[in-house]
Amino acid sequence: MPSRVSITRASSYDAAEVYSAVKKSVDFIGGMAAFVRKGENILLKPNLLSARPPESGVCTHPEVVRAVARLAKGEGARIFLGDSPGGLGYKSAGSTYEASGMKKVCEEEGITLVDFDSARNIDGMPIAAWAKDVDGIITVPKMKTHGLMTLTGAVKNSYGLAVGHFKAACHLKAPMPEDFAKRVVDVFETAVPRLAVMDGIVAMEGDGPAAGKLRNAGLIIAGHDCVACDAVFAGIAGLDPLKVYIIAEAYKRRLGEADLSKIEVLGESISDAKLANFKLPRASAVMKVPKPILKVLAKAIRFLPRINDKICRRCRICEKSCPAECITINEKGSGIDYDSCIKCFCCHELCPYGAISIKRSLLAKIIR
Ligand code: SF4
Ligand code: SF4
Repeated sequence: MPSRVSITRASSYDAAEVYSAVKKSVDFIGGMAAFVRKGENILLKPNLLSARPPESGVCTHPEVVRAVARLAKGEGARIFLGDSPGGLGYKSAGSTYEASGMKKVCEEEGITLVDFDSARNIDGMPIAAWAKDVDGIITVPKMKTHGLMTLTGAVKNSYGLAVGHFKAACHLKAPMPEDFAKRVVDVFETAVPRLAVMDGIVAMEGDGPAAGKLRNAGLIIAGHDCVACDAVFAGIAGLDPLKVYIIAEAYKRRLGEADLSKIEVLGESISDAKLANFKLPRASAVMKVPKPILKVLAKAIRFLPRINDKICRRCRICEKSCPAECITINEKGSGIDYDSCIKCFCCHELCPYGAISIKRSLLAKIIR
C-alpha cells in the first residue's frame, strides 16, 4: 500500500475550523478509527520547543492538539500528552506546558499531562518511559524551518522523546548536520508514531525553529508515514525531500517513503499548497555547495551565533543549554567562545527573547 498523506486547509486557529480541517485530513487517510482503538492509551507528542505562547508560532498550537485529542477520544482512547522541551534535562516541562497553552487545553479536554521525568534505556538512548508504556503515539509537529536540519516536521518531533541531557550530548558528539540527522532518526526509530498531524496553519520560515518569520500557510498535513508527511512538507516548501538530511536518512533506513511520485496525496495537491518563495534558514545555504568544495572552504563559510546584548535579558537559558559550555552570561554582557562552539544553534533555538541571531562570514553571504 502506498504511503498516503492528506493536505487540508484552515485559515485560522478558530476551534471549529481547526477541528473540521483536522477531521477532514484524518478522514482522507481512513479516519481516526484506523489508528486508535477503544481503551487504548495514546500519547500526543506536540512540538513544545520552549516556553512560548501559541501566537509565537514556536510550538504546536493547542487548537490542533484539541482537535486530535477529540477525535482520538471519540474512538474511546485515553489521551496523554507530553514532551521534553530543549535544554531542560529531567526537569519538569511545567512552564512550557503553561506558556504554550497545553496545560489549559489538557484541563479542558480531560487529557492527562505527563512529565517525561523517567526513561527507558533503548539501544543506549534514554527514551521517555511514557513513550514506551502507552499503546501508541500520535505526533503533532509544527511546520517549521530549522537552522541545523533545514526543516523540522514529523520525524524531528520524535527527538523530544529523548530525555535528560542526551539531546545536548548528541550535538556535541555529532556536530555535523548529516551525523546529527542520524541521531535524530535513531530516536525516531525507538517509538515510531502511528499517526502524524502537522500544524502548518501558521508555519515558520527563515531562521526557525524559534526565531524565524511566521507564514500563514493555512495547512494541516496528516499521514501514518511520518517520513512521507515530511517529504510532502518539503515539496510544499519547494525542496527536494532527499536534500533534507533527516528525510534522506529515514528513507535510507526504509522507515517511510520520501519519493513524492510514490506518495498518494489526498485533499489539496502539493502544487496547490506550495508556499511560493518559502525562506529557508540562512545556515542551510551550505546545501548548495558541493561537498568536496565545502570541505576545502569549510573555514571560510561560517555561520556563528551572536548574542545581542541590547535584547538579552540575562535569563541564562542559552548558557545552561549550550552543549559545548562555551557561552558566558553576566550582568556586564555576554560572550561566546567561538573556538569551542560546535555551531549546533541550540542557543539560537532556545533563547526565548530572540536575542541570538546567526551571523555569516562574507563567503556564507555570497552563497546564499
Ligand atoms: S541570549 Fe537569550 S537565552 Fe541567552 S541569556 Fe540572553 S535572553 Fe537568555
Ligand atoms: S554557542 Fe550556541 S551554537 Fe555554539 S555550541 Fe553553544 S549552543 Fe551550540
